Amino acid sequence: MTSTELHATTQVRVPDPAAAMDLLCDFYREHDCDVQQNGEITVIAAGPGTFRLGTGDQKLGITVAAPTDTGVSQLQTNIITLIDRMVPGADVNCRWQGAGRGRAANGKLPNFRELTVGNVTDLGPDMRRLRLHGDDLSPYRAGSGIHVRLLVPPQGETMPQWPGLGENGMLVWPTGENRVEQRTYTIRRINVDEGWMDIDFVLHGDNGPASRFAGHAAPGQLVGVTGPIGNDLPDADWYLFAADETGIPAVCHYLEALPTDKTGQVIFEVSGPGAKIDIPAHPGFETVWVFRDGTSAGGSAGHGQSGRANRADFATAVCDVALPDDGRRIFCWTASEQAVHRQLQQHFRKECGLGRDQCLVMTFWRAEGQDG
Ligand SMILES: Cc1cc2nc3c(=O)[nH]c(=O)nc-3n(C[C@H](O)[C@H](O)[C@H](O)COP(=O)(O)OP(=O)(O)OC[C@H]3O[C@@H](n4cnc5c(N)ncnc54)[C@H](O)[C@@H]3O)c2cc1C
Repeated sequence: MTSTELHATTQVRVPDPAAAMDLLCDFYREHDCDVQQNGEITVIAAGPGTFRLGTGDQKLGITVAAPTDTGVSQLQTNIITLIDRMVPGADVNCRWQGAGRGRAANGKLPNFRELTVGNVTDLGPDMRRLRLHGDDLSPYRAGSGIHVRLLVPPQGETMPQWPGLGENGMLVWPTGENRVEQRTYTIRRINVDEGWMDIDFVLHGDNGPASRFAGHAAPGQLVGVTGPIGNDLPDADWYLFAADETGIPAVCHYLEALPTDKTGQVIFEVSGPGAKIDIPAHPGFETVWVFRDGTSAGGSAGHGQSGRANRADFATAVCDVALPDDGRRIFCWTASEQAVHRQLQQHFRKECGLGRDQCLVMTFWRAEGQDG
């Protein structure tokens, strides 16, 4: 933790602090975070900052650190929600000292904005772009993290009840039938001056609240947003970007932002040739499209199939890429379904021996019926 970071601390009562620590460390390792255990102190690098965890008499001491108040608040929510979900007998009715006070001031989620659907544009059979309009989108401007948490109201709800933040950092969800659902999406493009952001949704049917919302979206509908989340793309000379449809918006965002002297390879997986979408041209990148056996990830052919299509070709194509070994700085970025993610993580971390500063291998969604 550096002196320029903001900090907040709390203590959570748990029956077995050592067991709680093990559960948390396992979780963050599984999510590819750096976990350093040094005696009774554990430091975990996660998202916008770090957690410092220590064990005491039936308690976990927690310090979160991040460069911004929003980052501190996000980490508070992250760790307390996780403890509540994973640690048996934990008493998460705690209070925080230090930064993250935006939470206490108004009980709203960090940078919460209510957005209104404007233009609805089909990019292909499986993807739809919604232009979302809102006031003061400056916290989401380029360079602040390209992902957001969308708060999606039930179909047809015109007066959504948005969640708030409790003193312990956990979300407080309104009860009742107009409860919203939270899902993670990517800002494909944003114009703060004009007050809009574009989000590209994979249409995989009415089986999930976000896909259903996008599939039936009409101008004037409301959706909430909080964030932003995610770190900057590290500087490198050569990049590999590999993603199924869910990661295409992020890769397009990066391709538009990268200087023209950067080079690399892009691999996209979509349902078939008809599902290709227009992507930004970058002179240093070659793009390969991999098709899934004619089975759609969504759209008309795939509704209700939960993306069980064969994704082996994509994983093979990614693993076959020859990474430069001529001294250029490389960075590999992948976004995929969870089972594919495991293969790619094994490949890049174990077989290629890349460190966290050289690759980010992410799960963007989980197909129903997959283990784990
Ligand atoms: C950092 C990050 C950024 C993301 N950015 C985007 C983005 O810009 N655009 C985007 O479309 N997605 C994006 N995703 C993925 C998105 O959050 C998930 O697909 C999410 O599960 C969709 O929520 P839902 O409510 O539609 O479905 P859920 O309620 O989560 O799931 C309902 C059913 O749909 C299935 N399902 C979920 N996603 C898919 C899919 N892609 N294809 C087929 N079946 C699916 C599930 O297996 C489940 O059976 C991102 C994820 C992360 C972590």
